[in-house]
Formats: sequence, structure tokens, C-alpha cells
Amino acid sequence: GVSELLQLLFEKHHLSLSSYEKILRERTKEEEELARSLARECTEKHYGRGVYTRGLIEFTNFCKNNCHYCGIQRDNGEVERYRLSKEEILSCCEEGYRLGFRTFVMQGGEDPYFTDERIVDIVSAIRKAYPDCAITLSIGEKSGESYEKYFKAGVNRYLLRHETADEAHYQYLHPKELSWKKRMRCLKELKEIGFQVGCGFMVGSPGQTVKTLAKDLYFIQEFQPDMCGIGPFIPQHATKFAKEKAGSLGETLFLLALLRLIKPNLLLPATTALGTIDEHGRELGILSGANVLMPNLSPKEVRKKYLLYDNKICTGDESAQCKADLEKKMKAIGAELLVDRGDARKEKESE
Ligand code: SAM
Repeated sequence: GVSELLQLLFEKHHLSLSSYEKILRERTKEEEELARSLARECTEKHYGRGVYTRGLIEFTNFCKNNCHYCGIQRDNGEVERYRLSKEEILSCCEEGYRLGFRTFVMQGGEDPYFTDERIVDIVSAIRKAYPDCAITLSIGEKSGESYEKYFKAGVNRYLLRHETADEAHYQYLHPKELSWKKRMRCLKELKEIGFQVGCGFMVGSPGQTVKTLAKDLYFIQEFQPDMCGIGPFIPQHATKFAKEKAGSLGETLFLLALLRLIKPNLLLPATTALGTIDEHGRELGILSGANVLMPNLSPKEVRKKYLLYDNKICTGDESAQCKADLEKKMKAIGAELLVDRGDARKEKESE
């Protein structure tokens, strides 16, 4: 039964594709509860009750792509486009450092203005000013040579969600010019270059099925990323998927628990999207096996312009406010925000 499979996953961190399918299709509320408590045990064993934080800097909302689900897609004429200057990015880092962040995540659309030269220039400046911090980039698909340049300039981590491990589903979510094989190639290159790599997917994205989700879990098991970002799909009113249903809280929490069991030392964020579909989404995420939070460090003036989906939280707050709110929420569940780069811990010997 499903309980036995969950127990097996807890002990061995490995299942067949069809076992994942069975778990996803047949689990009951009680088995969801079991997964959650096993995941919690696993998280505490590896990371205790501390939660890592990363300061997220959304530095451009220009994008050359047209992902069907995404609010900042190229053809969305409603978006007021912006770019942060190097100075603005550095002052976000300064504020972030003061607030206790030791990882900065530079995320943005695929914006051709930010050539490799400009990215390397900005990253080198952050590297020099904050030698004790980790730098994460999340700017989409680039050539292997570009990735190498970023790595040499001091970038430690790269986030590129795979979005779905099923090729046909990938094609349903993206326009023709984007390809699943290319996405997979990028992830492989990033890993070979030496980045700590994050992949991930949306829960409840249009076209997602038990079969595609089982493939996502199996992919994580095989690829062994350092991080995995998952959050519910949330419709954005100006996109092709405006009328689709959002992913659910319960499904997202269950998947977080499964991911924790698949890779005990995985860096697993409770995402902003999870906090958007439920007021307590991020706390519940932490209680289901997540161990990372990525509050927004972008200047307040640009927050309302980086809307991947509708009703995004924290768009009206100062960085310090977002951080203070999270601190309170974490305290309420007995978790604690750490001042730490937050690298993945080594796997325990017994595993
Ligand atoms: N452009 C870079 C990339 O594609 O990797 C980084 C930014 S991209 C906007 C970050 C992530 O936002 C995507 O990987 C996607 O999973 C997520 N996202 C986009 N639209 C979303 C939506 N409507 N609901 C939930 N997540 C969404």
C-alpha cells in the first residue's frame, strides 16, 4: 500500500516511476499526514529547526520569451517594464546584508539588455563587496559558455526550473521556440560547470497529470539537484491560462513532503506562490519539509511590476517589513530564520 511505499522512500530515498504514480493517485488524508511527519523528521535530522533565507532581487521584468503561464511574458502589453541599475542592485544587497541575508538571488526575465558582460560586471561587484555571501542567478537558458563566465565571476548557484519532466507537457506550457531538450541540456551543463543547481515545477499547471507529476519526482530522484523550487500555478489574467484553476495547497504540501523524502538534504523553499494561495502557506510548507524562504528584496517601487501571477503577496511592503512578518510567522511554528549562506548539508553517513 501507499504507507509502505512512503516508509520505503523514507528509508531508501528511491522508488520506481510506477510507485510514484501509485502514491500520487491513491494516497488518503492519513497517508498525506504520514508523509508530512516523515518529512518533518527527515528535515530536522538534517537541518534542525533552522530555516535558510535568501534575498530575492527581481532586477528586470523584460523578457524575450512567451511562456504561456507567465505574467511577464513578452506579449503582455499591460506590463510596465523596468530594469534595475547596477547601483540599485548593489543597494538591495546592502539592505539585504543589514537584514541578515547571506545569499542574494538575482532573478529576472530573459532580458537581452543584460549581456554576459553586464551580468559579469554586476556579479563581480557583489562578489567583491560581499565575500561571505552566496550569489544565485536565475535568468533562464543561456549557452554553456555564458554559464561558465558567470561561474568564473563568482556565481555559486543557478535556479532554472525544469517546469515539467514530460516533453509533451512542456510543449503545452510553452511556445514552439522553447524546447524541453534544450532545458534539460542547460540543467546538465550547469551541474557540470559546478554550480549548485536548482530545478523545479509548478503544482497544478495546466495539462499536469498524475503521470507527468510522477515523472517530475522521478526526475528529481535521478538528477539529484541541490535545490528544488515548487509552488502552485496561479493564473495571471492577461495570459492564455487566465481561466485555468490554481494549484492547491494540499497537493503542494504533499509534494514538498515527497521531495524531502526523495532527497533528505535538498534545499526546498516554501515559495511566495505558496504564501499567495494561503495566508499560512509558507508556514505549512515549512511544516511539510521545506527549509528555505526567499523574501523579496527588490525596491518597493518595482514590486508591483514583477507580477508572474495575480494577487502576489508582499508587493506593497518594504524589505524589512517582509522579513519581520516572516520572522513572526516562523516563530509561531517554532522555526527560526538563520543568518547563514545556507549551503546544502552533506548527506548523513548512514545514507
Ligand atoms: N526567467 C527565468 C526563468 O524562466 O527561469 C527566471 C524567472 S521565471 C518568471 C521564474 C519562475 O516563475 C518560473 O520558473 C515559473 O515556474 C514561475 N512562474 C511563472 N508564472 C507563474 C504562474 N502563473 N504561477 C506560478 N508560478 C509561475
